[in-house]
Amino acid sequence: MKLRKVSAAAAAALVLSLTATACGGDDDKDSGSGSGGGDTIKVGIKYDQPGLGLKEPGGKFSGFDVDVATYVAKELGYEPDQIEFVETKSADRENALSRGDVKFIAATYSITDERKQKVDFAGPYLLAHQDLLVKKDSDISKGTDLNGKKLCSVTGSTSAQNVKKDIAPQAQLKQVGTYSECLAGLQSGAVDALTTDDSILAGFAAQEQYRGQFKLAGLKLSNENYGIGVKKGDTATVDKINAALEKMVKDGSWDKAVKDNFGPADYKNEPAPKIGEIKN
Ligand code: GLU
Repeated sequence: MKLRKVSAAAAAALVLSLTATACGGDDDKDSGSGSGGGDTIKVGIKYDQPGLGLKEPGGKFSGFDVDVATYVAKELGYEPDQIEFVETKSADRENALSRGDVKFIAATYSITDERKQKVDFAGPYLLAHQDLLVKKDSDISKGTDLNGKKLCSVTGSTSAQNVKKDIAPQAQLKQVGTYSECLAGLQSGAVDALTTDDSILAGFAAQEQYRGQFKLAGLKLSNENYGIGVKKGDTATVDKINAALEKMVKDGSWDKAVKDNFGPADYKNEPAPKIGEIKN
């Protein structure tokens, strides 16, 4: 009887503490505004882009964006075990920042004037280029008219927008939520090409299950200046992140992250960009 009373009390305490955790504190604390201690920081990344942002089957996170985010979080006062990674798909990024779901986003997030209306950016920290991933035996190459081809890309990405605006307005463009969803279509021949940043495509092409099946067309269709997105108006965080990115390049951590993450995919990245310097 006594025992039962104790466990009931313990259960009640547990429920209370769980509720408190689930409800969280104020908004700022939730997405991370403290300077370390017991706080956590929520960081937006991609979950399905090998070499950049990947949630591995065991739950571990890996990729260049993950390494950049981890370095930046450390400079903001958060140890790796205080980081809570959150998936931010291409079309969700601006809203995730405006709502305060995450403190910052490192998710192959190109700095554009349109996005700058809604969010602020630190960086850039990487320069990539839009390209095409095609089957190994595809005859799509430089000079191929892509109008009339079946392309696949992601809703809310610059890649999809560039296709519609400039690259091939007449192409049949299938838009999905994530790039990995395009791969099955590419494999089956339902689409002729997956189009997005070469950094992302190289990561897919190098995956064990696709090795030898696909190739990059090597077209450099655009400049994609990757920035770290933060909530509009949070200039203090932008400044801190810019300082962190500068330090990351200076102390060799940026080079190491490049080697660790792009080496296996044999991705020839551009040199580290200067903070505030956007290549159009
Ligand atoms: N970097 C491009 C963009 O921000 C394409 C990759 C992505 O969708 O994240 O839209």
